[in-house]
Amino acid sequence: MADDKTLKTDTVLAHAGSDPRAFDGFVNVPVYHGSTVTFPDVDTMLSGRQTYTYGRRGSPTTTALKTVLQDIEGADDVVLCPSGLSACTVAILAAAGAGDHVLVTDSVYGPTRHFLDTMGRRFGIETTYYVPGLGDGVAALMRPNTRAVYVESPGSHTFEIQDLPAIARAAHAGGALVIVDNTWATPVFHKPLALGADISLMAATKYVVGHSDAMLGTVASRGEAARLVKDAWDQLGLSVGPDDVYLGTRGIRTMGVRLRQHEANALAVARWLKARPEVSRVLHPALPDHPGHALFTRDFTGSSGLFGFVTREAPVAAAKALLDTLKLFGLGYSWGGYESLAVLSQIGKARTATPWSEPGHLIRLHVGLEDPADLIADLEAGLAAFRAAE
Ligand SMILES: *Cc1c(COP(=O)(O)O)cnc(C)c1O
Repeated sequence: MADDKTLKTDTVLAHAGSDPRAFDGFVNVPVYHGSTVTFPDVDTMLSGRQTYTYGRRGSPTTTALKTVLQDIEGADDVVLCPSGLSACTVAILAAAGAGDHVLVTDSVYGPTRHFLDTMGRRFGIETTYYVPGLGDGVAALMRPNTRAVYVESPGSHTFEIQDLPAIARAAHAGGALVIVDNTWATPVFHKPLALGADISLMAATKYVVGHSDAMLGTVASRGEAARLVKDAWDQLGLSVGPDDVYLGTRGIRTMGVRLRQHEANALAVARWLKARPEVSRVLHPALPDHPGHALFTRDFTGSSGLFGFVTREAPVAAAKALLDTLKLFGLGYSWGGYESLAVLSQIGKARTATPWSEPGHLIRLHVGLEDPADLIADLEAGLAAFRAAE
């Protein structure tokens, strides 16, 4: 089943890694709690032939999730990490070390940037942040010691779309690996490894788990990068508790249908916001006037539930009143669950290559699986509070 390359993504999500006959007919792979795995004799122990050897290195529970991911990513290997951030850091540590240079999008997820600016720098990795729209212009930033180009498309909080195939050509010409943080689209809507990336990672905490109840990261890779990632993951001793791996597998079975509903709901909310006088700009790559829309339609097959909008210029009290009035949108970090969320983005401090200079306030919404009419009514009340506080 999992080897059938003609199956469509939704079918792979439902069936890959599943083997009821191996588990007395039960549809789902059980949760194996375990550290020690025993061997029948010394020869087997020394031979390396036994599939499972130690809890940290994997179990049937981790194999189930890895198999689904390997199939939908088109990867040679997948490792599971205890958070999305640890997936980002293990990918960087796999590609670069002391004396190496990495090129990273200026729109990168904030904690990944913090890792590069602190521990990355302390361990001798030098980072240059590039303008997200640069495309093959990254060739001019490549140095002889550039080991990786790190892409996140669309960008965290600002939703720029990048020309991944052009970036991959420039990176590979200079001998660098391409790492993509694909948390936003997931491989359901965007397949980085097929577009030239070597490493495709996700905060599986978001859409894979899908219910805001576990932390999980995944790193899919191909070719030489697969060996480097596996080694780094093993050397760092990363391991995920089996219950959280199970929640990842349970989530990924319904990821396609959930994402399509997030997409429809988010587009309904985004189009409504776009027509509002309190809103100066909507940052959603599936809207035709988004600057990255042509690249988006070329390289993505859909959009997810996360986008931003900028209010018209107003005192910060008005933006706070808007958010504090919302009842269905919770105020909280993370996203990708069934429920709607909102945050006031503090993007001004985070950029170095592309300073953020919009006069309005940037608000990021995660549109969940509620009825969009109710979400729009909630936002309408929020915008009334915004006007009252202007
Ligand atoms: C949330 C997020 C992460 C980190 O994931 P955690 O599971 O919270 O550690 C990494 N990249 C992106 C784009 C994210 O949105």
